[in-house]
Parts: sequence; structure tokens; C-alpha cells
Amino acid sequence: MSSSMPQNDTDISQNLSEVRERMTASCDKWDRKPTEVDLIAVSKKQPLERVEAALRLGHKQFGENRVQEAAGKWPTLRQQFADVELHLIGPLQTNKAKDAVALFDVIQTVDRLKLARVLAKEMQAADRHLPVYIQVNTGEEAQKAGVSPAEADAFIRECRDELGLKVVGLMCIPPAAEQPAPHFALLAKIAARNNLDHLSMGMSADFETAIQFGATSVRVGTAVFGTRAVPE
Ligand SMILES: *Cc1c(COP(=O)(O)O)cnc(C)c1O
Repeated sequence: MSSSMPQNDTDISQNLSEVRERMTASCDKWDRKPTEVDLIAVSKKQPLERVEAALRLGHKQFGENRVQEAAGKWPTLRQQFADVELHLIGPLQTNKAKDAVALFDVIQTVDRLKLARVLAKEMQAADRHLPVYIQVNTGEEAQKAGVSPAEADAFIRECRDELGLKVVGLMCIPPAAEQPAPHFALLAKIAARNNLDHLSMGMSADFETAIQFGATSVRVGTAVFGTRAVPE
């Protein structure tokens, strides 16, 4: 019950503990260290009380998928809670790149050259050289953001070597109707051959599998906060 309708801090506390326990169990099973895997609590479209509850419990890493929505709540929350690390996990329009650089600590969704160029310029201008992830469209879905697996190596090289972006890892969202494992394995393979240490993969439904395949960040929304107010 608690995971579908959190009512208070106790529910969020229980949800966070359950997710942590499942992460630890998966790490034990696949011979990984629990300290290698970060839990990014995805707070998009959640009532503020639930997000504040997680912050009061000491949780620090959060993910948002829209610049505007994040801009509406995080500047105030950051004044109340120190050391928050905010990740952008949704598509970024170039005209919002400047705001994103000011607001976020990590940008996980660099997915095209035009955006990479604008981000490099805005980071230079703000003197804020944020770690970024390259989003890979592992399922090559027409409607989904991300570079294709075939273009990934060249794109990573360009972002890193030509534009000077601080590329730390790769991110993917597997096709909803497929087994995620082959997508996670593919992302891990592309990261390894490009010497990238970080893999952002796995959501509420599949984070244990993502850990099996090397995730260093899992992005978990509903399992922490419950059902979102407005469905996607
Ligand atoms: C919403 C979202 C998540 C979290 O999804 P849940 O199924 O609620 O865990 C993770 N990653 C991205 C990119 C998202 O947009």
C-alpha cells in the first residue's frame, strides 16, 4: 500500500528503505558494492510534501525531467536543504540550456550535436562545468531521444575532445515493451569501449536488472514517491 499512496514521512521513509534494500540485495547477488550505485529519486510531478519528506530524511540526489518544473520548486528547496544534487533526466531544448546549466548539477540527456554545442557554450559562460551523460537510444525508437548505438562512439569523442564537455557516462531508457537486459548490456558495452565509468539505467520496474548489468545510478520515481499526480 505504502508505495502507491504515500501519505506521510513514514511512508516515504519505508519506500526509500525498501528500494535501498532491494538495491543492496541486487548488489550482493551480482557481486557489486552497494556504494557503487546511487539512488536518484525522481521527483517529477510529485506533490511537494513527498519531495520534502525525502529531503527531511536526508536524501540528496534527485532527478527531474523538465527544466521549467524543476525551476519552480528546486531553488526554494535548495535554500532549505543543503547539498542537493539535481540531475536533469529529460529532453533538453537548446533554448533552455542556459537555465538548465544554472539549475542542475548533472545533465544526463545530451543527445545531439546542436545541444552539446550550446551546453558547452553556456557552461563556459557560466563557468559551471557540469558532468554530463550521453543519452543512447539503445532501442533505436523513432520517438525517443538519444544517439543511435552506431553513432555513439563518434558523438562521445566529439563532445569530449572537440567541445570539452565533462562526459562521465551514458544513460538509456529501454523500450517499454521489451526486456531491458539487452539494452542495459549494450549501454555497458558502449561505455566500456569509451572508457566511461558511469551508467545511468534502471527505473522502478527494472533497477535490479540494471544493477546486474553495471548501473552506477538508478533513476527511481514511483517506487520511492508513489504514483505521480499526472500520468505521463
Ligand atoms: C520518470 C522517469 C524515471 C522514473 O520512472 P519510475 O518508473 O517512476 O521509476 C526514470 N527515468 C526517466 C528518464 C524518467 O523520465
